[in-house]
Amino acid sequence: MKHEQRLADLRRYFKASNKRYSVEREHLLEIIADMDGQFSIVDLFRKARSKGFIHAASTLYRNIFAFIDAGFINEIKLCGGKTVFESNLKGDNNFLLCVGCGKLVKVKSVSLGNIQKKLCTEHNFEPLNYIYQIKGYCSECQERL
Ligand SMILES: [Zn+2]
Repeated sequence: MKHEQRLADLRRYFKASNKRYSVEREHLLEIIADMDGQFSIVDLFRKARSKGFIHAASTLYRNIFAFIDAGFINEIKLCGGKTVFESNLKGDNNFLLCVGCGKLVKVKSVSLGNIQKKLCTEHNFEPLNYIYQIKGYCSECQERL
């Protein structure tokens, strides 16, 4: 996805949800697009601060949920109430979470993508993103149980 398209999507989201749009939020989108793999809100804050885009953590806390709602960030629930974030601008959003050891594995699935498209078409729903997570036991945990 090109940056201009992302900006257009961001503006559309803020318009649709009656939230104030700002250049600061455009900068945050740039940072989010640059994040690799899973990250914490502290990681995101450090990167935004190092680029001079944000000076107060409260600014990020105020904004991160808008980016989650708008589909730019995946909020991934881990064991024990922990949460990690991931940019939704790259790759698949299918996860296997082992409740034994806490391991999170990202898996590819063309079928789940197709199911998502089919459901959205049936309900005339325009998707921004989706997360599919299966909780269970990994092979190592199954062996030790
Ligand atoms: Zn396990």
